[in-house]
Amino acid sequence: MEQTLAGQAALVTGSTSGIGLAIAQFLHRAGAKVMLNGFGSAEDIAAARASCGDAPYSGADMSKPGEVRAMVAEAEAAFGRLDILVNNAGIQFVSAVEEFPEAKWDAIIAINLSSNFHAIAAALPGMRSRGHGRIVNVASAHGLVASPFKTAYVAAKHGVVGLTKSVALEVAEAPITCNAICPGFVRTPLAEAQVAPLAAKHGVSEEVALKQHLLAKQPSKRWIEPDEVARMALWLVGPDSGGVNGAALSIDGGWLAA
Ligand code: NAD
Repeated sequence: MEQTLAGQAALVTGSTSGIGLAIAQFLHRAGAKVMLNGFGSAEDIAAARASCGDAPYSGADMSKPGEVRAMVAEAEAAFGRLDILVNNAGIQFVSAVEEFPEAKWDAIIAINLSSNFHAIAAALPGMRSRGHGRIVNVASAHGLVASPFKTAYVAAKHGVVGLTKSVALEVAEAPITCNAICPGFVRTPLAEAQVAPLAAKHGVSEEVALKQHLLAKQPSKRWIEPDEVARMALWLVGPDSGGVNGAALSIDGGWLAA
């Protein structure tokens, strides 16, 4: 892979699994130094670090503002700079709004939305002073349109798109960009976990639940792969995307076209 990010440093939240891990691996292969973050077994974290060039790791909990901000400071201290921030950590919970547990609402808003705010606020001063910055927030198709039973997730992801636009305007004259990626259903543990409950709910096989229910809104009727999202992120943090700012880029097999 072309070393388009040689000499740069990146922090990817929620990068022990799924989309975040794929993004971290692509940034590493493009020459960036990457700090990983997220939960998982010691073996999974060690494997993720090894796949990104023995990358440093922060166990910061994205539901805790102080830990988010300390993680950004840790990355700057480790690398002496932070050029790229990818806010990716996220969780999902599916329930009717009347029964939606308050604790789940609070956790989703904190991890999927507020952590982005805290990380951006902590990273921007350094980006401004060094004269370079790329911020990518992993939102969702659910940042642009809604589905039922996902109130917290849809609210948080719409918030991420709004946060992205507002930050983009604040940095518009600086050599910094802030954009959102809006994936449809991506083959990761977060989305795959939704298949079995749908199969049980509708009394169908998991294959039918996937095609007819989970992917009902995704016209391609196939999973987006984590590497496809990572390639979009790689382009957004690279040297050719400086004119793209405040965008919410869809990668959803045609979902938003319908
Ligand atoms: P995943 O479950 O594979 O990965 C989530 C990552 O976030 C993991 O590394 C996990 O450890 C980390 N994480 C969760 N809670 C955390 C916390 N409190 N502190 C630190 N890290 C935490 O899921 P994924 O599908 O790769 O999701 C990544 C992002 O992509 C999320 O923001 C998700 O909303 C978004 N997204 C996913 C899909 C999809 O279909 N998979 C679609 C659109 C958007």
